[in-house]
Amino acid sequence: MSLFDIKHQMPGQRTLQRAMARNRIPHAYIFHGPEGVGKEMLAAGLAQLLLCESPITQTLDAARKTDEPVLDAEQLRMGCGTCHDCRLVAAGTHPDLHLVYRQLHREHPEPDVRKRKGLTVGIDVIRHFLIAPAGLMSAQGRAKVFILREADLLEGPAQNALLKTLEEPPPNTFIILLVSVLDQMLPTTLSRCQSVPLGPLPTSFVEARLATLRPDCPEDHRTWYARACDGSLGRAVRWADDNVYDVNEQIVHSLIQSRPDQLPMTVKSWTEASKSLGKDFRKRDPEMTEAEATRRGFRTLFQLAAIWFADVLKVSVGSSAEPANTAFAQALSKCAEEIDPAQAAAAIRRIAEAEYHLRRYLNTQVAVESLVGELSHVLRGDPIDVL
Ligand SMILES: [Zn+2]
Repeated sequence: MSLFDIKHQMPGQRTLQRAMARNRIPHAYIFHGPEGVGKEMLAAGLAQLLLCESPITQTLDAARKTDEPVLDAEQLRMGCGTCHDCRLVAAGTHPDLHLVYRQLHREHPEPDVRKRKGLTVGIDVIRHFLIAPAGLMSAQGRAKVFILREADLLEGPAQNALLKTLEEPPPNTFIILLVSVLDQMLPTTLSRCQSVPLGPLPTSFVEARLATLRPDCPEDHRTWYARACDGSLGRAVRWADDNVYDVNEQIVHSLIQSRPDQLPMTVKSWTEASKSLGKDFRKRDPEMTEAEATRRGFRTLFQLAAIWFADVLKVSVGSSAEPANTAFAQALSKCAEEIDPAQAAAAIRRIAEAEYHLRRYLNTQVAVESLVGELSHVLRGDPIDVL
């Protein structure tokens, strides 16, 4: 695994490459982009280079193992991949590579911290697993690298506690924050880190990777996951594991049959679907409370509704992008004929607002009822406020 094994992330890789060419690697990075597009792989590649005993130089075209166009041949620094340090990094056991994540509270020496729910990254985890070891000597004498997963789940006090270390890290200490939602980060954190953007992956790539990673997933489901997940391989894999394809069928049926006089029934079916998704989430993450799991279930349903309206929009404006819900081609064409594109766009905005309310822990039931009501109006051709 080297820095340049990651596919389809040329702009982010170039940002790193320019820093290496100048031999001035920033001490704090934020790698940001959708889930499952290669942030952690890229961070591991950078860690390998920083910890490698004898980094190598290769030209870009020789180093890249992808079919992406090569713009020019450039000299690249990367970990050798064969020394003792590189092998330890690849195995995830290098003593100077510290992976920090929210569930580490379970390994904290304080019993009170261990008892807490690990839904966010708290100040105790940051102090014990990042700030304190950052102040110690490195084990191998080269560098210390901290990779902080889900840094957008850092609590405010944890971000504040981290500021000094980000501003003036001890010598040869590198901190890489991995973030999906950049707007959760404090401006003071952002200003101390070099930002490296990672973009969505091509649909064809996600579909091919899904075929390798989840060979039992039927082909038409894979196509739907790849298109619906908007370039996020991580989400596609997670959705395939949770069988969101079937949940989507339920939601699309409820949308196309939605009538204002049947709202309570629709809200009931969405509530049941979100609870059933929530059960799967809790199996994967036992820290999650039932209420939190249901709330996340609703967020998934909102995403499915947004995908439906985006498909309606694609069909009505004749977009070259393929809709995800081709299994509902007839209903999709009918909706595209009946719904004004501005109204479909307004529905997507409303869904985004409702999702924002859920993320801010506002009243779930109110958010769901009012959203289902508004979507039903749009689907009946009754205009909603487009602003
Ligand atoms: Zn090496």
